[in-house]
Order: sequence, then C-alpha cells, then structure tokens
Amino acid sequence: MNIRIGFGWDSHAFKPGVPLKIGGLTIDHPEGLAGHSDGDVLLHAITDALLGAVSAGDIGSFFPPGDPRWKDADSSIFLNLALEEIRNAGYRILNIDTTLVLSAPKIGPIAAELREHVADLLNIDPSDVGIKAKTPEGLNVDHVAQAHAVVLLEKVDDPEARSTASSRPAFASRSSIRKTSRSHSAGTVRALPSWPASSAVLDWPALFP
Ligand code: MG
Repeated sequence: MNIRIGFGWDSHAFKPGVPLKIGGLTIDHPEGLAGHSDGDVLLHAITDALLGAVSAGDIGSFFPPGDPRWKDADSSIFLNLALEEIRNAGYRILNIDTTLVLSAPKIGPIAAELREHVADLLNIDPSDVGIKAKTPEGLNVDHVAQAHAVVLLEKVDDPEARSTASSRPAFASRSSIRKTSRSHSAGTVRALPSWPASSAVLDWPALFP
C-alpha cells in the first residue's frame, strides 16, 4: 500500500491561569487549556492522526497522562515521536487537514501563522496544511476546545529519502518512549512492559525545569 490515511481528535476544557497553546503557538487569551501537558489540543489531534495512519497506537499509549514526566510538557515532543513512528514505518506526510471547534478566541486572524507554525513542526510546506475553525453552535460546549485532524501519508521507497523525510530531530526516540499498556498495531490489546529505565527517559525532567 502506497498511501495511508489517519484521523485524530482531541478536546480540552478551558482553564484560567494557564497559557493558551494551540498548534505550538502561545495565543493571547485570558484562559488556556487544562491538561497534564501543555494542553495543545491541535497538536494532540495531529499526533493521533499520524500514529493512527501507521497503526502505531495513540498518544496516551506513549505518554500516559498521569506520568509526571509529561507534566506541562511541550506537545511538540509528542508530535516528534509520531513523526519518528511514520518515518520508521517508511512514510512521509503528503498533507494534513484540521478543524478547530471553539467559541473563543477567533482563529481566523491567526490561521495563517498557525498554518506556518504547524507546517514548520511537521517539516512540510504550509500549502500542505489546512487550518479551519468553527464555533460549537448547538453543542453546549462553549468552554471546551476540540480539534479534528486528518493526515495523508505516502510510502517512501528510497531508503535515503526515507531517512530525510523529516529532517527535524526527534525529541523522543522510539527506543526511549515505548507504549506502556496497549498496542493497536495488530488490532489486539496486549500488555507491554512498563517504562524502560533508559537514560533518555530519565533525562526528560531536565527539559522541563
Ligand atoms: Mg489532549
């Protein structure tokens, strides 16, 4: 199969006293999104879409929400892990499309900047990134931000091209971040070992002083 599709969805409630992070950008707004990490709902949805496209599980299977190592973590860490997963599977991103659902702030004025930033995080062209936004009319969830993401991947035949499909260095390597509780890759649920005590993992807290 030369192409694969992936879908991701996430939601976070708004919470006062924390910065609002969406798509890796810090957005000026009275409230941020609650979460164990930085609550970046858009990057979480894209991460799940990437992982889903290569049947690699989901964000929670790599980064359990209760683990103190991911407290207030920058969600680009999660995204980089997913990028490494698709690279290891031999795929690269063709394009992604996303929809944010939230009542405020207005995304339109910052959509272009968001698109540029997400494209930079994914190491793809901004023309291959869709950023759309809707208000949650009729859903009665005005204090929640939701994000939907779809990705399309293409098989990379040339091993050399595969290795450079994303030149962005991964914060977390596949060898240091392992799924802890379940695997979806074969459509089954099975127990996996608990967190490896590798030096790479033990070094993580130093990144989040
Ligand atoms: Mg999330």
